[in-house]
Amino acid sequence: MRAISMTNSLDPTARQDVLHPDLLARLQNMMMYLQLPEGGVKTAFPDEISCRDRFIAIRWPDGVCCPACGDHSVNMLPKRDLFQCRQCRKQFSPTSGTQLHRTRLSVLMWLFATEAVIQWNAQRYMYGEITIDALGKRLGIHTEAALRVRRIVSHDISVNGSGLLRRAVCTRDPDVPRAIQPWTSQHFQWAKAKVSPGVGPALI
Ligand SMILES: [Zn+2]
Repeated sequence: MRAISMTNSLDPTARQDVLHPDLLARLQNMMMYLQLPEGGVKTAFPDEISCRDRFIAIRWPDGVCCPACGDHSVNMLPKRDLFQCRQCRKQFSPTSGTQLHRTRLSVLMWLFATEAVIQWNAQRYMYGEITIDALGKRLGIHTEAALRVRRIVSHDISVNGSGLLRRAVCTRDPDVPRAIQPWTSQHFQWAKAKVSPGVGPALI
């Protein structure tokens, strides 16, 4: 019965749960928010070393490898902020070769910034993206740096981004009930109820 498959694809009851792209984007933001660590990034990764270790584990899940030659035999230089490749002798940092590198901000600042952007996007989406003032104040950096940080973080956590920062801060299982179909309006309503003021880490 060929007619059935044709009818199915046009069946309004099969399509009613498809989210509008705007709502889908909001749901993606809310899901990131719900994966932020309990007590916030500051609790999960309280210092530069723990932030760096987290970033390294996300960037190189199979162990640190040289960005120049791809070799896995790498020495860590003192202070844990530089690696050296035993093959080609190249020295590199955890952020070398990423967009984060040129800004000279600590990994800790990057993780805080990512948390701030995700919180804003989930809770204050109606105001557009996080203001440069709010981000600058939260991180204690000047306007120009905040502008650059916002651009890099927003791209990282977007669907086209590498997701390095997103995966570094999204540590928690959001615990979506199994009965809920992912990325449907039912999922949206569930997430919306969870992302209410007072739930999750405080904003700004
Ligand atoms: Zn190398």
